[in-house]
Amino acid sequence: MIHYNSGIEIEGVNFTLDATRKNDFAFVSHAHSDHVARHRKILATPETIIFFRKRFNRVLSHAVTLGQRTMVDGVDVELFSSGHILGAAQIMIHHNSRKIVYTGDFKMKESATVAPIEIKKCDVLVMETTYGRPEYVFPDRNVSIDLILKFIKATRVSGYTPMILGYSLGKAQEALKIIGDNGYAASLHPKVHEMSVLYRKCGIKFGEFELFNHETYKDKVLIAPPGWRRNSEMRGLRRVKACMLTGWGVGNIPRWSGADSAVPLSDHADYNDLLEYVEKAEPKKILTIHGFREFASDLRDRGYDAVHLEKGDSVYLTDRTTKHAPVKQTKNMDLFE
Ligand SMILES: [Zn+2]
Repeated sequence: MIHYNSGIEIEGVNFTLDATRKNDFAFVSHAHSDHVARHRKILATPETIIFFRKRFNRVLSHAVTLGQRTMVDGVDVELFSSGHILGAAQIMIHHNSRKIVYTGDFKMKESATVAPIEIKKCDVLVMETTYGRPEYVFPDRNVSIDLILKFIKATRVSGYTPMILGYSLGKAQEALKIIGDNGYAASLHPKVHEMSVLYRKCGIKFGEFELFNHETYKDKVLIAPPGWRRNSEMRGLRRVKACMLTGWGVGNIPRWSGADSAVPLSDHADYNDLLEYVEKAEPKKILTIHGFREFASDLRDRGYDAVHLEKGDSVYLTDRTTKHAPVKQTKNMDLFE
């Protein structure tokens, strides 16, 4: 049986997957706040353990590197890249003669800071479907990078300082890499700076960057999380124009972002990527979590055995029967897309 509560629980497996309430032992796919809690012990990649400890200080850990297959508490597991942020892992659990894959957040498109995604064939696929609607199809990465560079140039010509908005862990480092590779120096919001230093410690090379200060930021490109206006260090900045990097930026600027414009650059799979993943993984059973529940019905229309899980739902993995008890739960936009 697979149960979805604060995370994914698999009967006979000693650890939960991405539990958002404190657990004795949990697999943490990556260190975004909507995938973690103050667990006693975590199973994660070494990079994720570093980010996790920045947030929670002390935690016992069982480190498994990407590509490694090993036994954890009597369970045969394998971690492999999800392409989402540095250290982000999918997990394959070999259990009761089944291969169960849990994707965590994942991205199919290329990245400058993250190992490319791997897709493994499996029997049961538990997948996130944040952008599981056909209108969410993102342009090629090069198109998005061109839009970012055009925004920077146009903002400077108009006498303003360009600011790129993206969440502090992952997106901001992707922006920093793009900016540095194109010859711009960056001035970083403190949270972005803290995470960028950790990325650098993990071996990711960036161009020139510094911690934000009021004296030197004007001729640089600012990088900050969407909530920067509420932060004391950067409050009161004038003559700044902000561009948000987000998948929700397909066709509109998210109201909560405080941005003047948006470029669709996401750390998640778009609709076509989600379909491609399923085609390659060839699962017999698909459980979707996060995002739009109609993606599961799109999969059923294509002949897959798919069901969307809301919190409180259980699925029994007997050969043909699936007992499914839906519990109502609304989904907010994922701020860590
Ligand atoms: Zn995430």
